[in-house]
Amino acid sequence: MSSHRRDVYSYWVGIICALPEELTAMTAMLDETYTETDDIVQQDGNAYTLGAIGKHNVVITCLASGTYGTVEAARTVDKMMSSFPNTEYGVVLMVGICGGVWSEAVDVRLGDVVVSQPTGRHGGVVQYDFGKIDKDGQFLPTGALSKPPRQVLTTLSKLRADTALHGSGLPRHVSKMFSEHSHLLTEFGRPGTEEDRLFQWHYRHQSGSTCAKCDLSLVQKRPIRPDPDAVQVWYGNIASANKVMKHAADRDRIAQREGVIAFEMEAAGLMDTACALVIRGVCDYADSHKNDRWHNFAAVAAAAYAKELLLAYRSRKMPGEKRIREPVVIQDAGAGAG
Ligand SMILES: [Zn+2]
Repeated sequence: MSSHRRDVYSYWVGIICALPEELTAMTAMLDETYTETDDIVQQDGNAYTLGAIGKHNVVITCLASGTYGTVEAARTVDKMMSSFPNTEYGVVLMVGICGGVWSEAVDVRLGDVVVSQPTGRHGGVVQYDFGKIDKDGQFLPTGALSKPPRQVLTTLSKLRADTALHGSGLPRHVSKMFSEHSHLLTEFGRPGTEEDRLFQWHYRHQSGSTCAKCDLSLVQKRPIRPDPDAVQVWYGNIASANKVMKHAADRDRIAQREGVIAFEMEAAGLMDTACALVIRGVCDYADSHKNDRWHNFAAVAAAAYAKELLLAYRSRKMPGEKRIREPVVIQDAGAGAG
């Protein structure tokens, strides 16, 4: 614990998690945890964890236990930004788990990370359950959601370039976390690659909490990766709505229509308040076979990416600076491994 004085204005990085296991992983990823929280934490109904990653003070909060969805996410981030005002001018991250959309072009696997980068006509997050039916009977999402601030997007570009040059820091962050919190390894360690099964889209889950009764001959054939345990990072649009996506045909239809590579349930609630960047570890394939096996490691992978990003992020720390809202042109807008 460091001794220099901190107040609510010294926090420029805010992180929102939706589930307790996501909060566990993110907290374990901190370089330092502050214990003198009582005198600065606001009585706003949120519970906060305070600490540091690299040079940044970080405030983390989680949705109330048992709640989920865009409305609760909006309420939680709104309170955090009121209590820690400079998070509005710094960076807000939504860090947790999601369902991934596999395709031959985007070969996303369980335990990979998806990051909400503006791509095509969307700003990184698409609320796919909110829209209108046009004159031809086609559903169109309405309400453009904000993009992450320009400084966050330029950091993404730098991080992608640095990773291509020097390799990813994620394995280092994950192994450091487990060496400091070895009791988490049993529950939060990476499941074996043989437990990553994507069934063909037309084959529904049989019964039970695992796929023990499902027909393994209907698993989608995919190439073996050169390094199967490595976490790959994918950049693109993420679909968000107040319902769980667990229907493979709907998943593929919406993914094609909106150009999304993952599904989750909170980000759309944040975007207009916080211009957040969404970082999600892939825990299932958003189909009827989803189960909890990969939840914890996916949360660790997302937290490791959040750390990697913050180590590359240079906050300007100018009180009163206006939030950046001008449109941002992304040169490399396609999803791809990073
Ligand atoms: Zn199954």
